[in-house]
Amino acid sequence: MLNEENVVILVTGGSGLIGKALQRVITSEDTEKKFSKRSGENWIFLSSADGDLRDQDQASSIFKKHKPSYVIHLAALVGGLYKNMKFKADFYRDNMLMNENILHLSKVYNVKKVISCLSTCIFPDKTTYPIDEKMIHDGPPHESNYGYAYAKRMVDIINKVYNEQYGCQFTSIIPTNIYGLHDNFSLEDSHVIPGLIHKCYLAQKNNTPFTISGSGSPLRQFIYSKDLAELLVWTLREYKEIEPIILSVGEEDEITIKNVAEEIVKAMKYTGKVDWDTSKADGQHKKTASNLKLRSYLPDYKFTNFSTGTNLQIKISFKIFVLGIKETVEWFLANFDKEVK
Ligand code: NDP
Repeated sequence: MLNEENVVILVTGGSGLIGKALQRVITSEDTEKKFSKRSGENWIFLSSADGDLRDQDQASSIFKKHKPSYVIHLAALVGGLYKNMKFKADFYRDNMLMNENILHLSKVYNVKKVISCLSTCIFPDKTTYPIDEKMIHDGPPHESNYGYAYAKRMVDIINKVYNEQYGCQFTSIIPTNIYGLHDNFSLEDSHVIPGLIHKCYLAQKNNTPFTISGSGSPLRQFIYSKDLAELLVWTLREYKEIEPIILSVGEEDEITIKNVAEEIVKAMKYTGKVDWDTSKADGQHKKTASNLKLRSYLPDYKFTNFSTGTNLQIKISFKIFVLGIKETVEWFLANFDKEVK
C-alpha cells in the first residue's frame, strides 16, 4: 500500500482491545512515522453499534456506506478458556458468519486488501514446537476451543480460494496472547491477564486470597496490544503474501501463568495470599510459536518502551512485559468505574 489518495481503511471490531490500540497507534504523537495515519487515509473504526456483522444485510449496508479500499477485520466473538468451552456452537457460528460476510463483501466491493485475525490457539493440539504458519491445518485443535478454532481456520481457506478464483488479496495475521488497555476485564469470560488483574484487584480491596484457576504451569507468549497494532499497520502497508504471518514475541520470551500472576501482584502492590485452584482446567500446556517469518521481514523492528522512551530490539524482554503489565494495571485502576464491569 503506497501513498494513495482517498483511501478508506475500514476496521471491523474497532472498539475492541486491538481496535483501540490501532486507534492509539495511528493517531499518537509518540508513534513512529511509518505507523502513523497518512494524509489521504480515512480510517473508520466500527463497533457492533454500527451493525451486526453476522447479519448479511447489515454488513452489506456498511460496505455500501463506506466503500472501503482496505479492510482490517478484527471483529469476532472472543473469549477466554471457560467461555470457549461453554459456548462452542456460538463461537463457531458467530465467527463463521462474520468472516464469510466480510470476506465476500470485500470481494464484491473490490477491496484491495483484507487482513483478518487468526490466533495461535487454533493450531493443532498435538503438534511439534515451535508452531509456524504452515501448520495450521495439520490436525484437530484442542477440544476446549474447537468451535472458535475451526471458524478461524476457515478464514485461511477463504483467503486462499478467493485468491485462486478471483485474485483477491486476502491475508491473515496470527497473534499470540494479546493484553493491554481496553481489554475485557470480566471475571467470567476474559483472557488470562485481564481476568487475573480484576481478581487481584478484588482480593486487594476485600482483603481475601487471590485465587487463580489452574496450576500456573502453562506457558504462553504475550504481546502488548500497542506493539501488535504497529505490526498490523506494517502488515497493511508492506506484507504481500496470502499466507498468514505470526505476529509474536520470540520463543525465548514464553513465560508461565505463574510469572504473569507474580507481575500482576507486584503491579497491583497486592500483599495478601495467593492460592492456586488446581481443580480447574489448565487448557493447553503450551503453544509456543515461532516468529522467524516476522523476523525475516523485520529483523530490526524495535518495540517501543513508552515508559522510558527507550527503543528495544524485537527480542522482547521480560522487562517490557513488566512495563506493559504496569501500564495495563494503571489503566485498569483509572478506568475501573467507567469501563470495567
Ligand atoms: P475484543 O473482544 O476486544 O473486541 C471484539 C470486537 O468485535 C469489538 O469491537 C466488538 O464490538 C466487535 N464485535 C463482536 N461481535 C460483533 C458483531 N456480531 N458485529 C459487529 N461487531 C462485533 O477482541 P480483540 O480486540 O481482543 O480481538 C480482535 C481480533 O483478534 C479477533 O479476531 C480475535 O479473534 C483476535 N485475537 C485476539 C486475541 C486476544 O488475546 N485478545 C489473541 C489472538 C487473536 P463491540 O465492542 O461493540 O461489542
